[in-house]
Amino acid sequence: MRKAALHAAFHRAGMRLTRQRLAIYRELESRCDHPDVEHLFKAVKPRIPQISLFTVYRTVNALELAGMVWRVATWKGHARYDGAVETHAHFLCETCGKIDDVDTQGACHGLQEQARGCVPGNDVRRVDVMISGACAACAAARESAAQQA
Ligand SMILES: [Zn+2]
Ligand SMILES: [Zn+2]
Repeated sequence: MRKAALHAAFHRAGMRLTRQRLAIYRELESRCDHPDVEHLFKAVKPRIPQISLFTVYRTVNALELAGMVWRVATWKGHARYDGAVETHAHFLCETCGKIDDVDTQGACHGLQEQARGCVPGNDVRRVDVMISGACAACAAARESAAQQA
C-alpha cells in the first residue's frame, strides 16, 4: 500500500500513522511467511529498539479490525497474520507450522458467488480457505524416519 493510502486507511481505523505502526505494517506486508506477533516484534525491534511487544499486539489487532491485515490461522495457540488481503488460500503444515500462499483466486471467487447465491442479500466480505497437511520437508522427514524404523 502506498503511503497516502496507508494514511487514509489508518485514519479510517481511528489510528494515527506513527513510525512504529508503519514499521509493523511494512514488515508484515513484506513477508510471505505469515508470522505471529512475536516474530513481527523480533523483526522490527532492531530498527525501533523502544518498541514493545504490547504495541505490536495492539497495532496488529487494530489493523485486523480495519481489514488491513488478515488473521489467517492459529497454530499452537499463536495467531498468524498476513499483510496481503487480496483473495488467496493457505496451506498449513501441521508439523512445523509453515504457512504458504496458494493461488486459488478463481476457486475462491466461485465460493463467494455460491455464498451470495445461497441466501440472496448475503454480503460476502472474505473467503477463508485453509488447506492443511505436511509441507514437502516435513513429509520427506517423516518418510525417511519411517524407513529407518
Ligand atoms: Zn513442515
Ligand atoms: Zn497469505
